[in-house]
Amino acid sequence: MNKPILLSTPHMSYRELEFVKEAFATNWIAPVGPHVDAFENEFCLLTGAAHAAAVSSGTAAIHLALRLLGVESGSEVFCSTLTFAATANPIVYQGAKPVFIDSDYKSWNMNPDLLREALAARARIGKLPKAVILVHLYGQSADIEPILAACNEYDIPLIEDAAESLGATYKGQSPGTFGRIGIYSFNGNKIITTSGGGMLVSDNPELVAKARFLATQARDNAPHYQHSEIGFNYRLSNVLAGIGRGQLQVLSERVAARRHNFEVYQQALDNLPGVEFMPEADFGTCTRWLTCLTVDPEAFGADREQIRLTLATQQIEARPVWKPLHLQPVFAECECFGGAVASDLFARGLCLPSGSNLTHEELERVIEAIFTVYNNRNN
Ligand SMILES: *Cc1c(COP(=O)(O)O)cnc(C)c1O
Repeated sequence: MNKPILLSTPHMSYRELEFVKEAFATNWIAPVGPHVDAFENEFCLLTGAAHAAAVSSGTAAIHLALRLLGVESGSEVFCSTLTFAATANPIVYQGAKPVFIDSDYKSWNMNPDLLREALAARARIGKLPKAVILVHLYGQSADIEPILAACNEYDIPLIEDAAESLGATYKGQSPGTFGRIGIYSFNGNKIITTSGGGMLVSDNPELVAKARFLATQARDNAPHYQHSEIGFNYRLSNVLAGIGRGQLQVLSERVAARRHNFEVYQQALDNLPGVEFMPEADFGTCTRWLTCLTVDPEAFGADREQIRLTLATQQIEARPVWKPLHLQPVFAECECFGGAVASDLFARGLCLPSGSNLTHEELERVIEAIFTVYNNRNN
């Protein structure tokens, strides 16, 4: 029986354990402590973010961002449709309504022209959204400048969901650092992990200070426990921040390894008819967090599900590209501007095993399995 090859698994260096031992030795086993502070500072140095607050998940960071920007019951929030549900769920936590925006084929991320049209349409009826959430998917930055310009025209704050794109660049700068607030995730499958965790960043020190306040139960400055606002328990543990510090030190190696996976797959599979790899947009560097491709069933002779199922029989985990949120039963009532591009990428798109710890033999096994499907195709 073959050893399973998973989509994306944690990849520790040796440094994480050193930091965790330090937390134990000093008994900082709490959602506060020197590793949390250092993790935030080191994260800012690495990304160029001005201020950062470490939190318990990327989802928590999005929730705090929406809360900080005054999203509430009755608000609408524009949001990329091609993404994981965690991008939009916090909109609903706040009692607000998501309105989805389609992708373009160039980056697979939000189409700036469509956003501009959607904002203009809403401006005409006097019903502008309270915020826009822009996702940077699969390690690739969206085309931030025109999106930010459209938001600025209507004075609408931009939240960047860079959960999947730490280590990427847009015109030389980290996605996540352009909007009013950016968020990142350190879940187990992301490019670096703290097992679970997230970061909220902003140029505005008051927003980040308020995020820390809300993330620690919104305690007023008083010796007794006094609260004037509803808070959350969203701070990152000092132990997990230690893991994060170790992971930050190897981020560039992890990006290089994932880009290498992509190159190996592309060299082997690019000439197969009907196979197209996710493009790298010319405005930045994609980390290739996951290697994604699309399969045209006519040309290839099998569809992406046939490939995925064949890989599964060989203990190889591949996944369809995210099912767009406008197609999700839970968001069926929500409006969507466009949607055909994201739907098409979902119908034809496949994510291959992409961990930074994959061996050459494992990559070869995946490639061979795809060739097996091609050689047994039904045309
Ligand atoms: C993983 C992910 C999140 C959520 O991050 P968690 O840390 O798992 O809560 C949000 N958005 C996107 C695009 C993600 O991939």
